[in-house]
Amino acid sequence: MPALTDTFTMSNGLHIPRIGFGTWQIPSGAEAYDATKVALDAGYRHIDTALAYGNEASVGKAVRDSGVPRDEVFITTKLPAEIKTAAGARSAFEESSRNLDLGVVDLYLIHAPWPWSAIGTDHREGNVEVWKVFEELYDAGKTRSIGVSNFEVPDLENLLANTDVVPHANQIRWFIGNTQDATTAFDRDHDILTEGYSPLATGGLLENAEIRDIAAKYDKSVAQVAIRYLLEKDVLPLPKSTTPSRIAQNAEVDFVLSAEDIAALDALEGTTD
Ligand code: NAP
Repeated sequence: MPALTDTFTMSNGLHIPRIGFGTWQIPSGAEAYDATKVALDAGYRHIDTALAYGNEASVGKAVRDSGVPRDEVFITTKLPAEIKTAAGARSAFEESSRNLDLGVVDLYLIHAPWPWSAIGTDHREGNVEVWKVFEELYDAGKTRSIGVSNFEVPDLENLLANTDVVPHANQIRWFIGNTQDATTAFDRDHDILTEGYSPLATGGLLENAEIRDIAAKYDKSVAQVAIRYLLEKDVLPLPKSTTPSRIAQNAEVDFVLSAEDIAALDALEGTTD
């Protein structure tokens, strides 16, 4: 499936498969192991996890057992949003590396600019402190790229003003009706890849009548149109499912939405969340 093997190229030249498999809320153990295995069998070559998801070890084991050569799978994991010190970042990276047991990480992200219990609070100094550790890890070859998640323009400006390496990627909540235009434009202007998490709005889009009408024209599902929409916008979708048929379906997105239908989906801005 081209959508699974085509890549985006990040600013450092690293190729990243255009669709990633999301693993948030998939419990560690058999569920995360099986879902990752099903995704790899279906041809996904990019898996998104996080220390906070608690399932890195199961994801890593599924990758090791899959028979897919390690260098053909792109693995992203994340520093917990609550950790804003250099020592904490170093130790969390080691913990993630141990959990995954896959050697070099492909992309390491700051999970969010603030702890989840205090969204929007000011951690500019902590983010710079942590980012300097990310630069060390990158320079040492322990991760092949570094990035951020849930960063908005002021958060990005703070890093750019006070550190050396421009993030290679910014993973943000991005779906039809929630396209984060200011952050996406800033990313584009600074050669930061935008990854879109929750491309189905964590399921919230699935009953949308407007999207359903458009999907019917292509004989596709709402989920497939929702995922395709990100690809049309050069945003990297990270759909999650534990259902094998849906895991496969979410990668069957090699169709093209017409300009008219994209405009109709653009017009849903602000209505879907
Ligand atoms: P999502 O991909 O937007 O939606 C997942 C939901 O949709 C699940 O309930 C899934 O059900 C259902 N679904 C998936 N494919 C479907 C299909 N073809 N037809 C019908 N239903 C379908 O959800 P998400 O988990 O919020 O986001 C995806 C990934 O983004 C996460 O797993 C994670 O990797 C990443 N993420 C990152 C952050 C961050 O802060 N960086 C935050 C949230 C998410 P079943 O599983 O039951 O099939």
